[in-house]
Amino acid sequence: MAHEQDRMDSIISLAKRRGFVYPGSEIYGGLANSWDYGPLGAELRRNIKEAWWRRFVQKRDDVVGIETALIMNPKVWQASGHLATFSDPLVECKKCHSRYRADQLEGVCPSCGGKEFSEARQFNLMFKTFIGPAEEAANVAYFRPETAQGMFVNVKNVLDSNRVKMPFGIAQIGKAFRNEITPGNFIFRTREFEQMEIEYFIKPPANDEEWQGVFEQWRAEMHAWMRDVGIDTARVSEFEVPEDERAHYSKRTIDFMFNFPFGVKELYGLAYRTDFDLKNHMEQSGQDLTYLDSETNERFIPHCIEPTWGVDRTLLAVLLSAYTEEGEGDEKRVVLKLKPTLAPFKAAVFPLLKNKPELVAKAKAVRSQLMDGDPRLLPIAWDDRGNIGKRYLAQDEIGTPACITVDFQTLEDDTVTVRDRDTKEQQRVAVADLPRILGEIMTR
Ligand code: ATP
Repeated sequence: MAHEQDRMDSIISLAKRRGFVYPGSEIYGGLANSWDYGPLGAELRRNIKEAWWRRFVQKRDDVVGIETALIMNPKVWQASGHLATFSDPLVECKKCHSRYRADQLEGVCPSCGGKEFSEARQFNLMFKTFIGPAEEAANVAYFRPETAQGMFVNVKNVLDSNRVKMPFGIAQIGKAFRNEITPGNFIFRTREFEQMEIEYFIKPPANDEEWQGVFEQWRAEMHAWMRDVGIDTARVSEFEVPEDERAHYSKRTIDFMFNFPFGVKELYGLAYRTDFDLKNHMEQSGQDLTYLDSETNERFIPHCIEPTWGVDRTLLAVLLSAYTEEGEGDEKRVVLKLKPTLAPFKAAVFPLLKNKPELVAKAKAVRSQLMDGDPRLLPIAWDDRGNIGKRYLAQDEIGTPACITVDFQTLEDDTVTVRDRDTKEQQRVAVADLPRILGEIMTR
C-alpha cells in the first residue's frame, strides 16, 4: 500500500510538472478537489473521448451521438427521480463539524478522531442555480448530475429525425455535476466531471434472457474497451451491485472496479434501467414516447440498458496502468507506456545539435512533412535542448512512442534514427518511410 501511495504521488507530481493536470484555481489558493487539465492532459483526454466516440458511435450502425444542454427543465429531474432520491446520507462530526458520507465512514472522524456524529440526513447531490435575474423558487434549475436524461428526453426527436431501428443506442459525452459530500483522491471524485454514456434501447423483453443477452454484450464491450485503451486488466474486477445498493431505476447493475492506490473503486457502470425513465417522462410530459415497430405494428415503451464511463476516471486508470519506473541510478527512467493512439505526442523530432542551422532546418522540414501527412500522427513534439539521452527521457516520461533524430548522415542520405519508447531500440530508416513506420507503431 505504501508503495502504491508512492506511485500515486509520483503520478500527481509528474502530472503537474509536465502539464497533464494542475490544481484548479491555484493562484488563489486552489478550490478543493477541482483540477484543470494542462496541454498534455487536454490531448490525452481528447484522445480518450475520440477513441470512445469512434468506437461506440461512428463505427456502429445502431448508435447515434448527441450533445445536450447542461441545464435542463427542472421537470426532467422530477420525472427521473433525482429530485426525490439522488442523495447521499450526510453526517457531521460533533467535535470538529467536518461532514462525511455516512456510508463511507468507519466510525471515526478522519480529521479529528471524534467518534460522535449527528443523525444522518439525506443530502441532494444536485447543484442548484437560478435561471434569470430573480433568485426565487420558480426560477430554480439544476446542473445535470448525469448526461443520461439528455438522451431520454430526446428519444422522440432522434426517432423522428433519423432512420434508427430497434435496438438502437443514443450516446453522449459531456460534463455532469454532483455536489459530492466527500470528493477526493485526485481526479477520481470531483464535483464536476465528464461522462461518456450510452442509452441502449431494446424491445420490452418477453423474459429475462432477452435483456440479459444485450446486457452481456455490453459487458463484453466494456472489457474490450478497457483492454484497447491499455487499462491494466489485472487491476479490474466486477462488482454485482446488490438490490439495496442499486440506483432507484436499476434492475441490475455491475460496477467495473479498478484497483486504485487508494482502494478498489468504481471505474465504470452497466445498468439495466428498464423502462423507468421513458415511462416517467411520458407521464410527466404528457408526450408519447413509444416506438412503433414498422414490421409487427406493435407500439411499446422501449427498455434501456446503460453502459457508462467516466472520462476522468478513465484518464486516471490509464495513467496508473501506463506509469512504469525502470532501471536504477543513472539508468533509471520513467516511462508512460500509453497506447500510442492515446499519447499526447505521437512522435518527437530532434536535430542532433541545436547550433547547426543545416540540421535544424532539415529537422524542421522532416517534422512539417509528417505534420502535413497522416492526421493520426498529430501532434509531433520538437526538442533541441540538452543531449539526446535527456530528450529521450523527457519524451518517455510523457509517453511519446517514437523519437526521430536528424543528424549529419541525414543530410547525406536522407535517413534518420527512430528510437522506440518501449524497447529503447534505435533503427536507421529513410525519411520517406517514416509515415509507414509511425503508422505501424500507432496500431500497437
Ligand atoms: P460512485 O459510487 O463512485 O459515487 P456512481 O455509482 O454514483 O459513482 P454513476 O452514477 O454510475 O456513478 O456514474 C457513472 C460514472 O461516472 C462512474 O462510473 C464514474 O466513472 C463517473 N463518476 C461518477 N461520479 C463521479 C465523480 N464525482 N467524479 C468523477 N467521476 C465520476
